[in-house]
Amino acid sequence: MAFNGGKAYHGTEDVTGGKLCGRTGKTDYFFFLCPKCDGKQVMRPLEYEFREAAATIREEMKRPNQYFNLALHLYCPTCQFEDFIKIDNNHQAGMLD
Ligand SMILES: [Zn+2]
Repeated sequence: MAFNGGKAYHGTEDVTGGKLCGRTGKTDYFFFLCPKCDGKQVMRPLEYEFREAAATIREEMKRPNQYFNLALHLYCPTCQFEDFIKIDNNHQAGMLD
C-alpha cells in the first residue's frame, strides 16, 4: 500500500519548530516522544517512505555514499495523535536555531 494511502503529507505545527523530541532508550534504538502527552510517551511509526535524494555537495571531510529522504507516519497509542516527520542526510549539519 502507498505511504499515507497515496495522499499528500506534511508535518504539522505540532511537530515543527523543535516541538518533537526523541532519544535513545536502553539500547541504540531511537524513539520519538509524543508532543501531546506529558512525560516520555513513545510514538510508533505506522509506516514509512524511503526515497533516494539528489546529492548536495558540501565542504565536509566525509560525504554520504547515498543520499536519502525517509518520511515517517508517527502515532501515539495513548492520545491517538498522528503526524509526519522526515529524516534525511542532505541538510546542513550545523547548529539548530
Ligand atoms: Zn500522545
